[in-house]
Amino acid sequence: MKILVLNCGSSSLKYQLIDMTNQQAIANGLVERIGLPGAILTHRKGADKFVIDHEKQLANGLVITDHKTAVALVIKALTCDKIGIITSMDEISAVGHRVVHGGEKYASSVIINADVMKVLNECSKLAPLHNPANITGIMACQELMPTTPMVAVFDTAFHQTMPVEAYIYSLPYEIYTEHKVRRYGFHGTSHKYVANEAAKLLGKNLNELKIITCHLGNGASVAAIKHGKSVDTSMGFTPLAGLTMGTRCGDIDPSIIAYLAHEMDLSVDEIDNMMNKKSGVLGLSGISSDFRDIETAAEQGNQRAQLALDVFTYHVKKYIGAYAAAMNGVDAIVFTAGLGENDKVTRANVIEGISFLGVNIDAEKNNVRGQARIISTNDSKVTALLIPTNEELMIAQETQELI
Ligand code: AMP
Repeated sequence: MKILVLNCGSSSLKYQLIDMTNQQAIANGLVERIGLPGAILTHRKGADKFVIDHEKQLANGLVITDHKTAVALVIKALTCDKIGIITSMDEISAVGHRVVHGGEKYASSVIINADVMKVLNECSKLAPLHNPANITGIMACQELMPTTPMVAVFDTAFHQTMPVEAYIYSLPYEIYTEHKVRRYGFHGTSHKYVANEAAKLLGKNLNELKIITCHLGNGASVAAIKHGKSVDTSMGFTPLAGLTMGTRCGDIDPSIIAYLAHEMDLSVDEIDNMMNKKSGVLGLSGISSDFRDIETAAEQGNQRAQLALDVFTYHVKKYIGAYAAAMNGVDAIVFTAGLGENDKVTRANVIEGISFLGVNIDAEKNNVRGQARIISTNDSKVTALLIPTNEELMIAQETQELI
C-alpha cells in the first residue's frame, strides 16, 4: 500500500509518497511560491533530485498557479515515466493531510467527509494562517482524486487528553466556553511519534512510562506524556507560547502587550508580528533564528548570542522540571527535531542542568546526530534519548489505520 502525505502551507506544499510495506518514503518533494511568480517544484526520488521550474511547467502544459495545479503537477511527477515512481494515480491508496487545528472536536485523526470539512472551516478562526491553507490542499486533492480516501491528521489532536487544569487559562470562564480560548498544544504528531519510538527502544510498554518529549526545532515545544497520553504541553492557544524559539518569544508576561501598545504606540497586530517573527533567539541575539549561526557567533565571543543559547537551555530545563512535577515523576526524556537531533551541546547542557532528577549524559553516546539511541549513562535513573522525528510516517500510519 502506498500513501501520499501532504502538508500544505499558504504558498507551499510538501509531499512524501510512503510505501507502507517497508514504511519508507519512495519519493518526496516541495512546491514553493504557489500562486506567485517563480513557482517551483523540487521532486526527489531516492538520491535523484529534479527541479521543475516555470519553463518545464510550460513544456508540461501545467503551470503552478494555485494549489490544484500544484497537486496536479505533483501527481504528474509521481507518475511520470522518467522521474516518477508509480505508473498511475490508482496506486495511491489514500492521502494523509497534515491539518494544524482540529479544535476540541478531534482527539484523533479522521476520514475526511463533508462534515469534517465544516469543522475544519470552523477551526480556521483558531489557526488563521494554517487551516485555510490545509483546507485548500484537501479540496485540490478531492477534485483531482475524487475516489481516493483522505484522512486529516491534526497537530492538536494528541494533546486533547490534557486534564482541564492543564488546558484552562485563568480568564473569566466564558472566555473558554464562548470563545474556545484554552491551551490546545501543537507538534502533537511529533510528540506522539517519538514517545512511541522511545518506548520501543526502551523495550517497555508506553502505558507504563512517564515521558517528557522535547521537540526542539525552529518551533519548539515540550510535552508531558503519562502512560501514552499527553497531560501537558508548552505551546498554548497558539504555537507562540512556551519555550523561546527561533523567532517566537514563548512565555512572556501578558501585560507587556498593553504596555508596549501605549509606550511605543504600536498596534496589537504590530506587537503580534514582533512576538512571532522578531523575537526568540533571533531577537535576543540580533544575529539569526538559526541555532548554528548563533552557536558560531557565541564561540567567537558574541555575548548576546551566548545569552540566546543560555535562555533557550534554561527554558527547556525549566519545562522538564515542571513536567516531572506535573506527572509526579519521569522515566525518560526525549530530544527530537532539528536542534534536538543535531546539537549535542544543547542536549548535554540541558541534561547537566537537571542531574538532580537522576539523569547524566554519556558524552560518547551523545556524540551523534539524527540516530535513535539512549544518550544517558547506564546508571541514570531517568533515561535520556535521541529519537529522530518522522511526522510524515506518523501521518501515513494513522491514515493506513483509518482506511
Ligand atoms: P526544524 O524546525 O526541526 O527543521 O529545525 C530547524 C532548526 O534546527 C534550525 O533552525 C537550526 O537552528 C537547528 N539545527 C539544525 N542542525 C543543527 C546543528 N547541527 N546544530 C545546531 N542546530 C541545528
